[in-house]
Amino acid sequence: MGGIDFVDIHDLAQQYHFQQKGSVASQTITLFSQWSKLVFKEKERHCFFNNTKIYLNRPIIIRGHAMYISRSDWDNNLRPILFQKPNRLYCIVLDPGHGGRDMGCQSLREGLDEKVLTFDLAKRVQTLLLKRGYRVHLTRYNDVFVPLEDRVALAKKYNADLFLSIHFNTVPQTYVQGIETYIVPPLNEASSGRDTLIAADREYSSGIAQNPWNVLFGYCLQSTLIKSLHADDRGLKRARFKVLKEQTCPAALIECGFFSHAGELDKIKTTAYRDQIATAIVDAIGTYQQK
Ligand SMILES: [Zn+2]
Repeated sequence: MGGIDFVDIHDLAQQYHFQQKGSVASQTITLFSQWSKLVFKEKERHCFFNNTKIYLNRPIIIRGHAMYISRSDWDNNLRPILFQKPNRLYCIVLDPGHGGRDMGCQSLREGLDEKVLTFDLAKRVQTLLLKRGYRVHLTRYNDVFVPLEDRVALAKKYNADLFLSIHFNTVPQTYVQGIETYIVPPLNEASSGRDTLIAADREYSSGIAQNPWNVLFGYCLQSTLIKSLHADDRGLKRARFKVLKEQTCPAALIECGFFSHAGELDKIKTTAYRDQIATAIVDAIGTYQQK
């Protein structure tokens, strides 16, 4: 269809022994097994895997009497969550976003800088991971500016098995809240925020080769955090962030909430909530390793 390879969702159900609920007439199809539930809705460029929102490269379509997902979305976005096994996991590099002259987002009302809270949260995660026996490095150990390419180089220098960049977010719409996780898109696929390809989408980078593990890690983060924190699910998304795209180990960037949402900021500014986020991140890493 239009030069794109699509697969019939009913065929996937048969091939992978899922039961199926819903129909083309209802524009929603659910595939489920003892462990997994996948919900597809016509025209949506995302689906839900065990109630976690997974962004797709192309919308779900209906043609005739069948509902279709693009082959690349099945292979690159969903199969890894179902079947991928993690690699060795010993050394974890945590990347507190921003630092030094780069404040990140700010709340003038509360006098809070993102760079301070990302560092605080990374330290809390580090403490918990060390207790679990991992080797842990941070990309900065104080309030200094570290260029994005240096953060990638540090992960390589430490021979990292996993890289996690930690951020908070801000948008003009003050009603927006919740958690979102980013990983690098496959080659020739756009970021979740765009429908059309740009030149950068056609350039290979080493992070692309990590896709199956990126998806598994990203899914574990997003699903664990939204459940543990009872936060809005903004989805597992794709973006060619500089700090992710040249990585040579599985890598994700997590946005742990919005400074621009008054209620969420009230939580983020407490150490108790940041401890909850840290615990959820460590639980997600544990789930990733045990898959
Ligand atoms: Zn940030």
